[in-house]
Formats: sequence, structure tokens, C-alpha cells
Amino acid sequence: MTNINALLPWHQPYWQQLQAYLQQQRIPQALLIVGAEGLGKQQLAEQFTAALLCNTPQANGMACGQCHDCRLYLAQTHPDVITVSRAVDKTSIGVEQIRQLVSQLSLKPQYAGYRIVLFQAADSMNSNAANALLKCLEEPSERSVLILITDKPSKLPATILSRCQQLTLSKPDTSLASAWLQQQQPNLDDQQRQNLLQLAQGAPYLALSYAKTDVLTLYNRCFKTWIALAKQQSQPILIAEEWHKLPNAMLLNWMALWLLDLLKCRFHAEAQALYNPNLASDLLPLAQTLSATAVIKFYDQLLAQQKQIHTPINKQMLFEALLIQWVQLNQQTKLPTP
Ligand SMILES: [Zn+2]
Repeated sequence: MTNINALLPWHQPYWQQLQAYLQQQRIPQALLIVGAEGLGKQQLAEQFTAALLCNTPQANGMACGQCHDCRLYLAQTHPDVITVSRAVDKTSIGVEQIRQLVSQLSLKPQYAGYRIVLFQAADSMNSNAANALLKCLEEPSERSVLILITDKPSKLPATILSRCQQLTLSKPDTSLASAWLQQQQPNLDDQQRQNLLQLAQGAPYLALSYAKTDVLTLYNRCFKTWIALAKQQSQPILIAEEWHKLPNAMLLNWMALWLLDLLKCRFHAEAQALYNPNLASDLLPLAQTLSATAVIKFYDQLLAQQKQIHTPINKQMLFEALLIQWVQLNQQTKLPTP
């Protein structure tokens, strides 16, 4: 459970907006919290939930953490908090879950305050579930607040988006993110912090989870392998055998960013303009031997595979196909520098 009354430093402007809702007693019936992965959307949603429940909130509107409601919430036993998320064995939030929610909402809240429904990864609702939820949004229940969290708002139907108040979180300033990361992981040096934040594309929470699981080592190892494949020093079939067991979506995302950086190098961008500036020395010589058109074509195919990665597709074959193509791309397009 989140620390319900300690705000993350980059959440300050968003809390002000939420606090204004509380002060003016104009609580939205549906609130959509949008932002990239790793910005702490869930934490902010939980803090707002606690603030809505709390009997004796602090001056800044945040929950006290001590009252009866706060204690129930912290123990995850508050009867007026409902969480809706995708079951681990399911690919989406299904219509049955929403029907069950609708019947729960038809009853009065247990206590005098608000009843809050927290949708984790709201974009994972399938279309039947979204339609069922729409009815809920059209005829809101008494004292109920729906909080939807997503990093992919474009996957939600426009009819749902239009019925939600939207709160959009952006990436914090690098110095703010770096200072926070240093507090969390004092053992990291400046360079490691910088690399982690780059890898997390500026999202501090994601950088922290990468630090805790030593993702940087994995990332560097995979990048070396990717370069070795380009130089025909490694076998795509063997690598696919290893890579399909790694976090698939993350790996495809890395490959996409390496390709974008190759294109940037091809068009003579400065190293600092790259997503991975510290890889420039490996990417520059490679970029000079590749055709931009072929890289763009491969990038498009990679994006198409990214959409497949959460379906029950054979991941080993997916990686085999991509890596074989990557090797072929490097064999075929030895063109002079433009
Ligand atoms: Zn309280």
C-alpha cells in the first residue's frame, strides 16, 4: 500500500488540481489519470482515494493516516473501496467484472463518505466491458467516484473519455527525477542514475524498478548481442531461444529505440539527441552501412509485432523472425554513406 500522505515531488501540480476538487466539494464522478508508465499514477490515485475517505484531512487536503477510515483503507479492508483490474490469467477486464461492479454500485455505500472504484490499467477493458461501464457513467450512482488509470488512453473508447475529467501527468524535470532517485537508491552514481532515467524515458518510478532489478545489466547485454547479430557474430535462432524468455514487451521497446537511434545517426543527429546517447559509438558506424528505407521498413514491422506481444502468439517464433530479419538487413544493405 502506498504512503497515503507523502506526495511525490513531481506530483505537486497535479495534487493542487485534486485538492481544488476537494476544497470546492466538486468531486468528479469519473476521473481519468493518464500518463506514461512509471510516473506514479497509481500512487496519486490511492492518495486521492484516501483523501476522499479521510475524516480529518491535513491542511493540504491529504489523508491523515490515523482516523478510522484511513486505518481501514491502509489495511485494504475499507468496504467502500473497490478495485477493478485484469485477472492474472485473463487478457482483459471482462464484462462480468463490470456487471458485478454495477450491481455493487446499486447498493448504498457502507459509510457516510464516498465510495471509490479504482480501475487499474483501464485500457485493458474489452469492448463489452467498456459498453457496460458506459451505462454506469451515464447514470452515476450516489456518492460514487470512478478513478480510471491508464498509460494508453487511445485504447479507451471516445464515449468513455468524454465522460471523464482528465488529469494528465507528464515526465518530471530530469534534475527533480534524478534527485528523487538518489534519495531512493543512494548507492547509484551519477552516470548510473542518468542511464537508468534514460532507459526509463524519464519516468522516475520505472527507473527505480529498473535499479532494483538490475535491468541496466540486462539492457547492456542485450544491446551487445544485437550489435553482434548485425556483425554476423551471433546466431539469431539461438538468441531468439534466449530472448523470448526475457520480458518481451520491454525488449521490443528497446529494439524500437535502437532502430530510431540508428535512423537519427543516419541523418547525422548529435549524440545528445539520441534516446541512448551512451550507445552512439556503437550505433554510428552501423548506421553508415544501412539503408534508411530498410531500417524504417523493419521498424514498422517491429511496431506491428509490438501490438501482438500481449496476445497468445508464439513468442520464440516472433523473436526468431525479427532477429533473422535484422541479420538480413545488415547483410543486404551495405550502402555508402549518403
Ligand atoms: Zn484520516
